[in-house]
Amino acid sequence: MPALPQTLAHLITQYGPHLHDTPPGGWQGRESSDRLVKTHCCFCGVQCGIQLKVRDNTVIGFEPWEDFPVNRGMLCPKGVKRYLQGSHPDRLLTPLIRDANGFSSADWPTVLDHVTDHIRRIQDQYGHDAFAVLSGASLTNEKAYLIGKFARLALRTRHIDYNGRLCMVSAGAANRMAFGIDRGGQPWSDIPLAKCLILAGINIGECFPILTDYIWRARDNGARIIVIDPRRTPIAGTADLLLPVRPGRDSALMNGLLHVCLARSWIDYDFIAQHTQGFDEVRQTVASYTPERVAEITGVPAAAIVQAAEWWGTAPTAMLLHARGIEHHTQGTENCLACINLVLATGKIGKPGCGYSTITGQGNGQGGREHGQRCNQLPSGRDIENPEHRRIVAERWGVAETDLPGVGYTATEMREAIHRGEIRGLLCICFNPLVSLPDAVYTRAALERLEFFCVIDFFMSETARHANVILPGSLHEEDEGTVTTAEGRVIRIRQAVQPPGLARPDWEIICDLARRFAPRKQFPYACVEDIFRELRRVSRGGLCDYYGITYEKIERQQGVFWPCPDHAHAGTPHLFDGGTFYHADGKARFHPVEYRPPAEDVDADYPVLLTTGRVVAQYLSGTQTRRIGPLVRQYPEPLLELHPNLAASLDVRTGDQVRVLSRRGAITLPCQVVRTIRPDTVFIPYHWPEERSANLLTIRALDPISKIPAFKVCAVRLEKVAA
Ligand code: SF4
Repeated sequence: MPALPQTLAHLITQYGPHLHDTPPGGWQGRESSDRLVKTHCCFCGVQCGIQLKVRDNTVIGFEPWEDFPVNRGMLCPKGVKRYLQGSHPDRLLTPLIRDANGFSSADWPTVLDHVTDHIRRIQDQYGHDAFAVLSGASLTNEKAYLIGKFARLALRTRHIDYNGRLCMVSAGAANRMAFGIDRGGQPWSDIPLAKCLILAGINIGECFPILTDYIWRARDNGARIIVIDPRRTPIAGTADLLLPVRPGRDSALMNGLLHVCLARSWIDYDFIAQHTQGFDEVRQTVASYTPERVAEITGVPAAAIVQAAEWWGTAPTAMLLHARGIEHHTQGTENCLACINLVLATGKIGKPGCGYSTITGQGNGQGGREHGQRCNQLPSGRDIENPEHRRIVAERWGVAETDLPGVGYTATEMREAIHRGEIRGLLCICFNPLVSLPDAVYTRAALERLEFFCVIDFFMSETARHANVILPGSLHEEDEGTVTTAEGRVIRIRQAVQPPGLARPDWEIICDLARRFAPRKQFPYACVEDIFRELRRVSRGGLCDYYGITYEKIERQQGVFWPCPDHAHAGTPHLFDGGTFYHADGKARFHPVEYRPPAEDVDADYPVLLTTGRVVAQYLSGTQTRRIGPLVRQYPEPLLELHPNLAASLDVRTGDQVRVLSRRGAITLPCQVVRTIRPDTVFIPYHWPEERSANLLTIRALDPISKIPAFKVCAVRLEKVAA
């Protein structure tokens, strides 16, 4: 085994069994390969570099890619095991059409004719908007761009949205409101320069494990680490301070921190005057958020609030990172805005070692929200209701502006429209709504109401089982393209193998379908790079300007940060240098946030708070990771985490079965008694379907701005199940 960098040794300390348990063909493997393909991990938004070992059109293992600067050869358990999924027997190999006996194989011309006929029938009978498209934030930038153009020009429907609606949209909305642009302001390499880090609702050790190394490097440089979370997550175990917030109270806590900073004069008034607007309203709003009042709301001791504010307010450099823990709420956008208020008021942005970022859960969570697959968005983050933006895109696509549909429903609103009979047909790619959406019973009922449902996927997901037609698409290693990491770096995904059997690259399937509805000149691509060249041209001058990014430049520079407006431009790692923001006047905006309680809170019937999230061995709806043997062995089934006090009140011990009931449904799970969670809160990971699905319990309530569901808080009751 090669000598380990110190940081990797740290990770082995944390994840020992998983990194040591490298499977045959992995890092230590001796299986000979034909070639190594430099690409990236198919999972989270860190997008670690990896070299896939390929022999005979099969991925047989991996090697570290030590030159890639983000992870420098390190990988977490999911990255180590990812190569095992391609050989799973569930891999879809032929197009499938539902018949009386289940599904039958079909050839491509037959199945595409079948799909075309059904879409035409529905649209002729009910109008173009009766057919909708749901896509995914793990798709490459090229596919995200293509599927948006396909929906609007080929299908002429306004209803297209993506599963990032369940993920980063609260942060995205807040970023646009505050900064005028939706991207983290600085690369990860700034994290070790910070002298104080606030990690709010972000389980870095399990969801983005490789970023742990950056946090620990900051700590080794003397940074104070403050974690805000109802659970003592792995990263909180090494933090200086944990603020164990009651789920759904984050904006009150952030207002409390700013209140203390104001009271103690830890405010950067020069920065506020030169680079921001709207501070006075925020100052008035937070005046009533005294530490004592905030302690009452959040359950965090007042002294801890004061301590956190002092470390943040007095640090010369500081950075605030967050993820779904504060975003998955009916106040998700407000929670993010309250964080931004603290960052702006203390001037901790726009200079080295300072900044603010959300970390995207999905591989292309950043790029997936830039290129036009959102219901209100055209490519380059353009607004579909803005006449000038519509004119530019229509002109570059060679169509009349009136040919572009208007704003459509979000993914969460589409489900309601299906129930109302407004949407009759659906095409779904890279999205497993039956596991991912809250209130799974309601989702299943929606899928059963559809007159025609087509799925493009590589495995038979729980959602695909409800389809009329399944088109076998491509795994990550079977297609080309680019993705944009959570830090804004555009990187290359390289094809390592051809799709097996009759499976095809997703972009080819979409283009074949598109050409049945629209002139070929609108979808003229011969290869993925053709799509990227068009994406660049269409993005030119837009907010997410990729015009100066080429595949060659990405390889030469190990990624390019957008905006990159011309060929001579090297990209923009630091977005807000010198305190320049992207509103027309160059200033950032404060937004006052009043705390609102969650949509559903505890009461006498449902006295416990439920919060949901991830575990390190699984990813999203589990379509991939539940098919990777070593990851399944590492965490085979969902466990209900609860505090010893709560366990004692129920008379249960670790391993006992506990029934969890909400107003939507009930599930029974083995419990795990842990001291790392608040006594009034339980946790269930959400990666499993059917009777083990956390989303049988969660609530459909949405954030009014981002339309993200409140996955992180609802009320439940617990019952011990007799042995
Ligand atoms: Fe993959 Fe994310 Fe793990 Fe890196 S940290 S190996 S990108 S899952």
